[in-house]
Amino acid sequence: MNKWTDFRVPAHNCPVCNHILDAASHPEHDKPPAPEDATICIKCATVLIYNADMSLRVAQQNEIDMCGPGMPEIIRAIKEIHKTKEAS
Ligand SMILES: [Zn+2]
Repeated sequence: MNKWTDFRVPAHNCPVCNHILDAASHPEHDKPPAPEDATICIKCATVLIYNADMSLRVAQQNEIDMCGPGMPEIIRAIKEIHKTKEAS
């Protein structure tokens, strides 16, 4: 299993659910996220893109496609975690 590296990022709200996102994790990179990088809201599982000022916008479908085949799996995993939490 990959070791996930955590990074602090400037706090910005998710444009969809308003959750404050101030951290990011990545299984392969050891660099913090940069503008144009994708991230996923840990609360609503929306794929987001960092703007130049590190605020967040919702990703276009073609940008989600460019994230590679692992992305749908991560989105599913986040939704699954929330489902489990709600059920307990
Ligand atoms: Zn969100």
